[in-house]
Amino acid sequence: MYCTKCGVNNPVGATYCTGCRNLLGADGLVQPLQGQQNPILEEPVSVKEWLLLFLLLLIPIAGLVMLFVWGFGKEEKRSKANYCKAYLIYLAITTALVIMLYVAMFVFVFALAGSAQHW
Ligand SMILES: [Zn+2]
Repeated sequence: MYCTKCGVNNPVGATYCTGCRNLLGADGLVQPLQGQQNPILEEPVSVKEWLLLFLLLLIPIAGLVMLFVWGFGKEEKRSKANYCKAYLIYLAITTALVIMLYVAMFVFVFALAGSAQHW
């Protein structure tokens, strides 16, 4: 493997460069990973961005679409993406609860109607 600092060819599996004593494991393997991570994605989301997010969430269907776009988009800030994912989970739970409530109400109403016929 070639050293990223001085370009000397080192034996495979070497920890330190024979030319400059540079740590090969850290520079050769960790740096490309750090390069893939966009530092902008780790920055806090600005007040303006949050306001825009809340404004768009007020629009029924577009808001839901944006939650998916932001929640699973690679170019979105991580805190914003996490918020969108949490919001989607919250929406799924509340929707399920509302559906269950309606089903329970229907069952109750039909049970009442059924028992009323016997009187
Ligand atoms: Zn070197």
